[in-house]
Amino acid sequence: NTNAEANLREVLSHFIIEGSISSVRLYGSGHIHDTYAVTNGTPDSPDYLLQRINHNVFKNVPLLMENIELVTRHLRQKLENLPGARPDEEVLTLVPTHAQQSFYQDAEGNFWRVYLLLDGTRSYDIVETPQQAHEGGKAFGKFLALLADLDTNQLHDSIPDFHNVESRLRLFEAALQRNPKDRARQVPQEIAFVQQRAEQMSTICRLGREGRLPLRTTHNDTKFNNVLLDKYDKALCVIDLDTVMPGYVAYDFGDAIRTTVNKAAEDEKDLSKINVDFHLFKAFTEGFLQETCSFLTQEEIVSLPLGATLLPYIMGLRFLTDYIDGDHYYKIHFPEHNLQRARAQFRLVEVLEANMDLLRNTVQETATLCKTTEAEQQK
Ligand code: ADP
Ligand code: MG
Ligand code: MG
Repeated sequence: NTNAEANLREVLSHFIIEGSISSVRLYGSGHIHDTYAVTNGTPDSPDYLLQRINHNVFKNVPLLMENIELVTRHLRQKLENLPGARPDEEVLTLVPTHAQQSFYQDAEGNFWRVYLLLDGTRSYDIVETPQQAHEGGKAFGKFLALLADLDTNQLHDSIPDFHNVESRLRLFEAALQRNPKDRARQVPQEIAFVQQRAEQMSTICRLGREGRLPLRTTHNDTKFNNVLLDKYDKALCVIDLDTVMPGYVAYDFGDAIRTTVNKAAEDEKDLSKINVDFHLFKAFTEGFLQETCSFLTQEEIVSLPLGATLLPYIMGLRFLTDYIDGDHYYKIHFPEHNLQRARAQFRLVEVLEANMDLLRNTVQETATLCKTTEAEQQK
């Protein structure tokens, strides 16, 4: 343990750290990286957040870090020109190494980075109130709005085809063909669920290809716990920028809805517990559209409810693919864990589908109202 801490301190010594460190401890509930809070022993010197980047998931860390540098620089510049904004708290601040790099690679090949720790904030794994959902919507909406004028050609695809359902479906069909553990015949209903919806779920991909949906700078991992809220439950900062790359707005809306409206766990076993809280849906949508309605096209607005079913479909598809393939990608805690996760996501898809008219009306009415309000304010 002291050995581990000495090692972490050695890593930190490569970064331009103010003051003297008093402790380094594991922090947060992220599933991807190892995250540590670094407490400063010197008064008036900042605390830090140290992360070891998971390079099994992210194959090209230098490119990913270039994306984060670009995006945080752009956000900061925009916020500095926005009256009332707090650029130091509303955007992540990378702490450079002594070699003026945004990351450090150790002798074992691990990649490390340091951010300023945003004090007095927290993230929620499960949304508790409509106020929180509204704040989450505002935070992710504002993120898109501030990045709407960034040229997406400057960004790298840090994980190619991440939310591309057509490519996910090809991987699924390939796993079915291989069927290495002979599990395919145990899950005919789940396979049928995927195949019946394959074409409809490809709508966003198709519209994108036809040039009817624009590629924008999107976050692509808009889980609700990737927004930091302050002590008054006000959204402060969007975090976890590893997957920022060109994408469709419906992806960000959809993944946020997936993790906001369903109060059951991502891998809930009892499917009857999986439901959609429409107050939370409405609250999130209002916050999101307040920030985005002025620049989203009508076709993008129409695509939002599709995104809400697409993202849990893609997650379920990825879990089911991994199950059929013999559980290589996701960590499992019991033998049929991936299957249970897939079933939970597919149930969420079904509940959202059954309420599609309500979702569409809520989105359209909210967008119309936001546009009217904005037009009046400009008079
Ligand atoms: P992961 O990809 O593993 O989810 P995150 O970047 O989301 O990693 O970080 C994990 C957790 O650490 C977050 O959920 C949040 O609670 C906390 N966290 C991340 N960045 C900061 C920060 N700059 N200030 C305070 N807390 C943070
Ligand atoms: Mg996270
Ligand atoms: Mg992450």
